[in-house]
Amino acid sequence: MPDLDELYQQVILDHNEMPRNFGKLEGANRTAEGYNPVCGDHISVSLQMEDDVIRNIRFQGSGCAISKASASIMTASVKGKTRAEAGVLFERFHEMVTGELDTHLDPHDLGKLAVFAGVRKFPARVKCATLAWHTLRAALDGNRGTPTTE
Ligand code: ZN
Repeated sequence: MPDLDELYQQVILDHNEMPRNFGKLEGANRTAEGYNPVCGDHISVSLQMEDDVIRNIRFQGSGCAISKASASIMTASVKGKTRAEAGVLFERFHEMVTGELDTHLDPHDLGKLAVFAGVRKFPARVKCATLAWHTLRAALDGNRGTPTTE
């Protein structure tokens, strides 16, 4: 049995309890929704893009601890980054949770995102951990410059 403690690290529990950048984003010009039917995680990500830079980002929704903590740390990690930088970060993150990248061996620039390294031992949780990222990409790719109607 893989060790659950390795999955539910304190940082993850903290972000689940007190998610950063949680709530409605005033002035958002891009938004996307993501759903992980396997676990029931539902999330929406709103961005305020300025040229190619993510000036502000917030998320809403509900889900398991992994999906919520991942969304929280994702928003903190990509705020202020360009679309390309966020894309690279997603690639690294994806490699890590699917086991292609071993953060103990390889140098990486994942920072706090490395707490999700334990997810690789729980294949069913990979979708929980990547949901926020897929939703971010959908927001970045979709409705360019179109204000959200609410
Ligand atoms: Zn989940």
